[in-house]
Amino acid sequence: MKTLSCKDLGMDDGFVAKGVSEDEVMDKMMMHVKEMHPDMMKGKSEEEMMEMKKMMKEKMKDEM
Ligand SMILES: [Zn+2]
Repeated sequence: MKTLSCKDLGMDDGFVAKGVSEDEVMDKMMMHVKEMHPDMMKGKSEEEMMEMKKMMKEKMKDEM
């Protein structure tokens, strides 16, 4: 099980994206960001989005 929390990304809400694969976690986190933190994505270039996704993958944790 992989997890990625908003706290790890520097936000202070309690959302944690969980999934069996990196892709699943990324999908859930991106959906949450679009809904709850649209400012995080606003005005971001393609390159900046790639950077953000890279950072998310690096912060992802493995949990039992
Ligand atoms: Zn959040």
